[in-house]
Parts: sequence; C-alpha cells; structure tokens
Amino acid sequence: MLEKILIINTGGTIGMVNSEDNNQNSPLRPAKSWHEVSKNHPLLETFPAEYCQIPTLIDSSDMNPDIWIDILEIIQKNYYKYRGFVILHGTDTMSFTASALSFMLKNLDKPVVLTGSQVPLITPRSDALQNLITSIQIAGNRIYGVKSIPEVTICFRDELLRGNRARKIDATNYFGFSSPNYTPLGEIGCEIKINDKKVLGMPKNEFYIDPFINRNVLIVEIFPGMNPLYIKTLVDVHSEIKGIILKTYGNGNAPTSKEFIASLEHIINSGVSVVNISQCPTGAVKMGLYEASSALKRIGVISGGDMTPEAAITKLMYLLGKNLSSEDIKLYMESEICGEITV
Ligand code: ASP
Repeated sequence: MLEKILIINTGGTIGMVNSEDNNQNSPLRPAKSWHEVSKNHPLLETFPAEYCQIPTLIDSSDMNPDIWIDILEIIQKNYYKYRGFVILHGTDTMSFTASALSFMLKNLDKPVVLTGSQVPLITPRSDALQNLITSIQIAGNRIYGVKSIPEVTICFRDELLRGNRARKIDATNYFGFSSPNYTPLGEIGCEIKINDKKVLGMPKNEFYIDPFINRNVLIVEIFPGMNPLYIKTLVDVHSEIKGIILKTYGNGNAPTSKEFIASLEHIINSGVSVVNISQCPTGAVKMGLYEASSALKRIGVISGGDMTPEAAITKLMYLLGKNLSSEDIKLYMESEICGEITV
C-alpha cells in the first residue's frame, strides 16, 4: 500500500519570506526553497510526505495555464507512487487553479488538495501550519471512517471545499474561502468530518490528464451605462477571442436595448461563445425568468448556471482548447463535468 503523499509547492504567501533579512516590514517574496521556510518546523519532517516544487516559486498573481500544465504533468508522472497530492498555492488565484485542474484531471481517484495561508509559515501566528497539516492528512486519506476524496479540493481554515466551487472571499481573515453555491465537503474542527454525500463518486475508468487550454477568453462585467460597442469593437479587432464570460445582474439579466442585444448577437455570430454568469455570489442564472434575459437566450447566450467565475472561465478555456463546435461548447458548458454546476 502507498504510504506517502506528494507536496507540490507553487509558491504563495505560505512559503514567503521577507525580501530583506531582519526587516519584517519589507515586501514578501517567494522563498528560494522549502527549507528556507520550514526550517523552524521539525514537526513537518515527521509526516509521510515527499516534496517537490515548480522551477520558480511564484506569487500566485503570476499563475498561468503553462504552470497548470506543469502541475498536471507532475501529478501524472507521480500518480501511482503516492496516496494523494497537496498543492501549496497562493490564495489569490487558488480557486482558478483548483477549477482548471478539476477539468483536466480525468477519472481522478485520489485526493488533490490545494492549500495556502494568509500569513507566511515563518510568522509565529500564521494559519499555515494548521492548513498544511490538515491538507496532508486529507490527501493521505488518514481520516477515520472516510475512504477517499477523489476530487480537487481546497482546504482552508475550518473547511474542505470542492475546488471548482470555491472562491477567495477575504484578503485578511483566516476564513479566506467560501463555496457559495455548494456546501463544504468537510468541516475541520477537533475532528475532520467529511460529508460523503457531497463528495464525487469513484471513477470507473483509469486516470489520465487532458491538458487542453485556450487562453483567448475574457470576463466582462456589465454595469448600468456600459457601452456595448466597446466589447463588440474589441472582438472585431481581436478576432482570436473565442469566448466571453459575461457577468450579468441577478438571475442573468442584462440591458434590453437594441444596441446591447445587437452587439452581443454580432459577437456570437462571429463564432464567440458567450456564457452568462451572475454577479451575485449566490444563486444561479435562469435565462427567460425575466424579460431582461429572454433576448439573451434567443440569441444563443450560454447559461453558466450557478458556476463561480473561476469555474466558468477555466471550463470555457478547457472546452475551447479541445476545439469543439459551438453547439458542443454550449452543451458541455451547461452540463456538469465534475461537480462544478448544479444542473
Ligand atoms: N499574493 C499571495 C498569492 O496569491 C497571497 C496569498 O498567498 O495569500 O500568492
């Protein structure tokens, strides 16, 4: 039986150090090695874990699809050697990475747990140690009564969240993440309690990675007074744009003016997939519920249901990367791939 888990460090606050020695007010920078960070925590040496890192540790503001592919390849190469994987990641873009990985790790039958912290591990009152140790235990399936959690999750503070349902909601508080449209997979207190009914089932087929990604996408948030010609012109000038996530009001409502609808129709007719998600953190798009969304439905806007912006954009990037027809992109965007949408 496999004993160990693999920790894959990508950077983030958890492993940051001050850029000037002995100056706690100097800006934080990614450490050069894990040893620089963990040297004061011999406890970490006692866990059944091995460690690797991407070539350059980053602030997750610099996360990009090339690094997602690097992470996928590390997991693929090591898949049968470990019980599970912990990915150390900056909190700023953690839910983008968790979402992207969830679409590209196929038939996952082991835990892949992303974690990070609001304060570096080197700082005395840091939240890092608890997040890291809990993640190691979850990735190693060392929770009493729980068989496995075969999905990409985010472990932060007192909750285990489905990765493609999670959002960073607080830049300071230790409760930094939330899962507004899907209750947590687990609660982390004195015990780690997993709600089995919420966890994805075990896959029947063998694991593989599906590393397809197209970056030619945009997120556009509408607001009262927005000039729709700006997006139309942008798409005309940049014909490489293939997908737009449109963040609309409430249940997916948008201006009903002729200019707005004609601009969107022009964009869709030029082969761009336009996906409607809500600006509201909770709730879902229901096109046709109001007249203010009926026209969107008629012209072929895709419903993003209750997906988070992070899940919607990475799912669109993934599907566009597979060169599917517009009809298939609509079909898959509106269907569930790995628990990211309530259908
Ligand atoms: N800027 C940091 C990052 O995302 C924030 C953090 O990790 O909490 O890398």
